[in-house]
Order: sequence, then C-alpha cells, then structure tokens
Amino acid sequence: MTGRMTGKVAAITGAASGIGLECARALLAEGARVVLIDRAEDRLQTLCAELGPSALPLVVDLLDGAQVSGMLPRILALTGHLDIFHANAGAYIGGPVQEGDPDSWDRMLNLNINAAFRSIHAVLPHMIERQTGDIVLTSSIAGVVPVVWEPIYTASKFAVQAFAHTIRRQLAPHGIRVGAVLPGPVVTALLDDWPKAKMEEALANGSLMQPVEVAEAVVFMLTRRKGVVVRDLVILPNTVDL
Ligand code: NAD
Repeated sequence: MTGRMTGKVAAITGAASGIGLECARALLAEGARVVLIDRAEDRLQTLCAELGPSALPLVVDLLDGAQVSGMLPRILALTGHLDIFHANAGAYIGGPVQEGDPDSWDRMLNLNINAAFRSIHAVLPHMIERQTGDIVLTSSIAGVVPVVWEPIYTASKFAVQAFAHTIRRQLAPHGIRVGAVLPGPVVTALLDDWPKAKMEEALANGSLMQPVEVAEAVVFMLTRRKGVVVRDLVILPNTVDL
C-alpha cells in the first residue's frame, strides 16, 4: 500500500468483475475506501470479504432507473462522503448489423449510455456541494475509432466520449474533474462473446491486455495535481492494429 489515496472514497460500477474489480483493487492498495457497485450480489459479497474492510459492497441493478437515481444516499450511508465516481459498467455486442438483435442492443445501450449518464447525475449534487470530485468513465478505443465489427458498441462509446467532454467543461468551474479511460481489448468476461478463433488469435499475438494495465492508468489519472485533468487516456496493447 502506498497511501496516495488515504482518506479518499471511491465508488465504482461494474466492480464485481474485470476492469472495475481491478480498479477497486488498485485504489484499495493506494489506501482508499471503495464502494463496489454491481448487480452480482454473491460475487460482490465474496470479493469484498476477500478485499477487506475498506471494500464495501453495494448491490444496484444499473438498468433500474430508480435504483440508480437513489444510489447516492446509500453510498453516503456506507462512507460519509464520496471523492471519486467511476462509471465503469458496460456490456459488449459485436457482429454484422443485419444479424443483430435490436432488443439486445437496447439493453447494451441502456447500460453503456443511459446508466452511465444517470449514475453520474445521481452523485453530482454531493460533488457540487463539496466543490470537489473526480468522475472517471470507462470508455473504449471504440469511442474514438469506428471499429467495423462492432457498430452498436462503437456508437455507445462515442456517446460516452461526447458526454465526458461536454460535462467536463460544465463541471470544471465546480472543482470537479472528468476524464475517460479508453482501453483496447482487455481479457475480461466482456469478451466471452468473441468468436473462439478471434480470441485464440488475439491471445497468440499478444493483442489483449490484462485489467491491471487499465487500473494503473486510472490511478495515474486520479493522482494528477489538482487543477490538471487527464481528459482521455487511450491505452492499447502495442500490437493492436487500430
Ligand atoms: P466485465 O463483463 O468483466 O464486467 C462488467 C461488470 O458489470 C460485471 O461485474 C457485471 O455484473 C456488471 N453489470 C453488468 N450489467 C449490470 C447491471 N445491469 N447492473 C449492475 N452491474 C452490472 O466487463 P469489463 O471488460 O470489465 O468491462 C468494464 C468496462 O470496460 C465496460 O464499460 C466496457 O465497455 C469497457 N471496456 C472493456 C474492454 C474489454 O476488452 N474488456 C475494452 C474497452 C472498454
């Protein structure tokens, strides 16, 4: 533990797996208390028991608007205050658009876009009142590069980028920083849908990163001097052809 985040409180959505979980581990290691938000109740309970008393589980279904809008008092009941909110949860759908299922698209778009926006909206009154805070969004390289094999996912992350850039400028006068981390492919459950051949090829040629790389990038963003913001941090395996 290095203690750069001692006294800080972070809340991370989608924290029971993958990138969110690794970000929780990294912030805990820096001395923060972390509220791990997810709908996977069993996994959350088990993980928080392993991670120790500074890891606090909060079960929220991010697709339930009322639960998301009512999240702030539940976070504050656990921690007293909130310094960092990381809107990380997301899902993935790829493939040819003509073969897609628009109902599945709706679920993904609701999670990647609407739930991210709503959850940030839910915590802002507290940050504005304190005139300080950090908002991080997990975007994707697909938020700045149109990735041809994933049109709906790409569109969702372009929306995340547009939101991050506009609210950053609205919130800066309140002492709130907003930044996005934009990873390339990371080995997590999110890629379970990838065709087997594509996954094997990616693993063989080193074009996948581990979640810890993203977590270290997020810690870098959060440990910049007050008054300096990392607006976008693109992090890729150096073999990726994007
Ligand atoms: P993951 O599947 O490992 O984790 C997602 C977590 O979100 C899970 O714990 C899941 O339970 C939770 N979740 C899903 N729906 C939820 C809901 N309705 N309510 C509450 N929790 C819910 O995925 P990951 O790869 O860690 O993805 C995290 C973020 O990183 C996403 O925004 C994703 O788009 C982004 N991202 C991932 C990659 C990658 O290659 N894995 C690359 C770039 C960006």
